[in-house]
Amino acid sequence: MNTNDINVLKTYFKEPKKIVFVAHKNPDGDAVGSTTAMAMFYKKLGHQVQVVLPNGIPDFIAWVPGAEEVYRYDLQNIQSKKAINEADVIFLLDFNALHRVGDDMQNGLETFTGDFIMIDHHQQPDDIAMVTYSDTSISSTCQMVYHYIDALGQTDLIDEDIATSIYTGIMTDTGSFRFPSTTSTTHRIIADLIDKGAKNADIHNQVFSNNSYSRLQLLGKALTNLVLLEDCKTAYITLSQEELKQYNYNKGDTEGIVNYALSLKGIVLAGIFIEDTDQGIVKISFRSKGNFSVNQFARNHFDGGGHDNAAGGRSVDSLQETVDKFVSIVPNYKQELLVSYEI
Ligand code: 5GP
Ligand code: MN
Repeated sequence: MNTNDINVLKTYFKEPKKIVFVAHKNPDGDAVGSTTAMAMFYKKLGHQVQVVLPNGIPDFIAWVPGAEEVYRYDLQNIQSKKAINEADVIFLLDFNALHRVGDDMQNGLETFTGDFIMIDHHQQPDDIAMVTYSDTSISSTCQMVYHYIDALGQTDLIDEDIATSIYTGIMTDTGSFRFPSTTSTTHRIIADLIDKGAKNADIHNQVFSNNSYSRLQLLGKALTNLVLLEDCKTAYITLSQEELKQYNYNKGDTEGIVNYALSLKGIVLAGIFIEDTDQGIVKISFRSKGNFSVNQFARNHFDGGGHDNAAGGRSVDSLQETVDKFVSIVPNYKQELLVSYEI
């Protein structure tokens, strides 16, 4: 963070403020961790705080400290709108453009007349905030939250709950500290969070040893549906609405499944295509190893974006048409894919 921004923030928060913390739709560990950590931090500083998320928190992160006080914009619409309208400032955490909260909440944020502060690690952030702290090289928004608190000289305010929230977001966004975005700084922060009370083994268990029987059965189905495009070092998975229903799909059940496709030896591009007949879309996740940018790929072809190695998108075509499109486009990237990653 630059010194000017830090000074602006220090002055701005000298007086008690009403603060709302917002993250993207279908919040993940980083979204929930960063919003709850920031809310707990600013509450300790004497401000009035409220987290508002567009929709529900999946089970595997619903235990995060502060998650029970979060308003859901879709279900607690009146309270959420009131909190937003009465706020002095809204923190936009873990997303880079207002449309990422979904249509309903986007309207609510667009009519807000106060200030925005954005903390985010996605590429190409919209220029809408009083202060934008954007760094695409940092592993997670939660790591940025730690840097933010550090820049304000207040890491001594990080207690066990705040440390737990931040830890959870760093852990989930780094794939348990294995993605290339994990640096020695990440590990030093993690060490400090453990010193401050984050129970690392418990957090891992809460997040990863939380499978339902039907979720594992769904994973089995997804792996059965895995298709290889070996000459393009690509693998993809499909899940139809019918299949989701058959395995009692719950929010969050498909989280991380795409990584199994990427874990195949020699594969550098992986995708998962999930049919959502309620929304009339196919939701897509892409992952890559090495130089091949799935952010660019998702932006170019599937109305999406994200990071170089983890991105998402959507399609309003049928599941089959969407997959056919993917299969027809991938060969155009064959050369890039073949040289993307070597070990
Ligand atoms: P996931 O595949 O886990 O849903 O998302 C991977 C990354 O891509 C996340 O950083 C997420 O914010 C981003 N992402 C997922 N879906 C979309 C989308 O439809 N549009 C954009 N711009 N980013 C997305
Ligand atoms: Mn994130």
